[in-house]
Amino acid sequence: MNFSSQLLQWYRNNRRDFPWRRTKNPYKIWLSEIILQQTRTSQGLSYYTKFTDKFPTLRDLATAKEEKVLKLWQGLGYYSRARNLHASAKYIHQELKGVFPNRYNNLIRLKGVGPYTAAAVSSICFKEVKAAVDGNVYRVLSRVFNIETAINSTEGIKIFQKLADELICHKEPGDYNQALMDLGATICKAKNPICDVCPLQSKCIAREQKIADKRPVKTKKSKIKNRFLNYFCVEYEKQFFMKKRTENDIWKKLYDFPLKEVDCVTEELKQGDIEVIQSIIGENTFTLQKTRQYEHKLSHQKLHINIYYIKSHTKIRKNGFIKVNQHEAMKFPVPKPIEKFFKELFKGLDNKG
Ligand code: SF4
Repeated sequence: MNFSSQLLQWYRNNRRDFPWRRTKNPYKIWLSEIILQQTRTSQGLSYYTKFTDKFPTLRDLATAKEEKVLKLWQGLGYYSRARNLHASAKYIHQELKGVFPNRYNNLIRLKGVGPYTAAAVSSICFKEVKAAVDGNVYRVLSRVFNIETAINSTEGIKIFQKLADELICHKEPGDYNQALMDLGATICKAKNPICDVCPLQSKCIAREQKIADKRPVKTKKSKIKNRFLNYFCVEYEKQFFMKKRTENDIWKKLYDFPLKEVDCVTEELKQGDIEVIQSIIGENTFTLQKTRQYEHKLSHQKLHINIYYIKSHTKIRKNGFIKVNQHEAMKFPVPKPIEKFFKELFKGLDNKG
């Protein structure tokens, strides 16, 4: 039996059941693929349910406010995915009259859709013969065929795509793609692959040579950058000062507090911090209520965050900020550390009555 037949036979008896596998609706499949980029299936599942409940059709998503989409995405990270998802939904709804692109070459033109997602959607929904290559697929192929080229090198990407295109089943390309992903996720796992039950064991070179733990090969990641962010949560009579992030930086279009990026974070306020506070509240006096510290990891950055909770003693002008109350603050899409801070703060305020 050849590679794809063995794989498909295994898949028929072992496929994982997910809500997006019970439909061929391209909107829902696309949504699931965007959510699952850089996200574990267990975490993605609840977001998929939330999104399909709130936006059951492409039209519902396209006509929603971007802030609502970002709020629903909150906690999943990589927010550009949510912004691109929304922009593409609007594009399909307005420019393509709601008709979902049904070819790889058109899907890949959508914002946030790369070769993997375009191949997954076109093969699963429209039976187009396109191999989808994700981390699971890299792992299985590198082991079965003992490929030593790094999977994150330009050459490696080409080699693996070519091999995957040669192996794909032309009759059932969608099932084939999903089978390979499932095999990688459940049997040919990164650590301790379960070779004894693997349908490809008789073909697998890495198994025979006992080098599965050495495949795939990856070149070293770029260095993680440390950043130190001082946030100032300024309150006057239960009104908080916030702003929408616009710069081309992390968390674009989410809401946060006045911010100063520094070389290191300390619990006490430094002169530079006081200047920032005064640029918000003028010459008014204030009290530093408390300081909270958070660490937050992104793919290439480690954020060391201080949030200073400051109460102004007198009324202050907006100075370009948005004033929100507790209820409004919880509705805004905010970065995870600010969400944590608010939850703790509001719990304390509620307990005080
Ligand atoms: S035999 Fe083992 S290493 Fe080879 S593909 Fe199967 S699970 Fe992976």
